[in-house]
Amino acid sequence: MLRRLLGRIEDGRFGRALAGMQAGWQWECKNREAGLVEGFVRDGIKERMVVIERRGRGGAARCSCEDAVKRGVLCKHVAFAAMSELGLAAAARSKHRQLEELGR
Ligand SMILES: [Zn+2]
Repeated sequence: MLRRLLGRIEDGRFGRALAGMQAGWQWECKNREAGLVEGFVRDGIKERMVVIERRGRGGAARCSCEDAVKRGVLCKHVAFAAMSELGLAAAARSKHRQLEELGR
């Protein structure tokens, strides 16, 4: 779902989310359940609330920023939240694999 959502984010906004990652933006997940992720993106000055839901093909997302609210687009914060969630999931899988390897 998250990868498909990322595929729908316009290149400029995707790039700004990558730049945010380099600049140390933080993702604080408040709620993670089947088909729903909610949390905050912090860029050091402002805090935006992002909600990503599994709905239809690829999911739906919203953010409290002006870009998302006024233009109705998938913004850089949504991109950042999705990337962060994918990163966390990949890290958890990798850790699990390492533990399995240790157990052999
Ligand atoms: Zn936003």
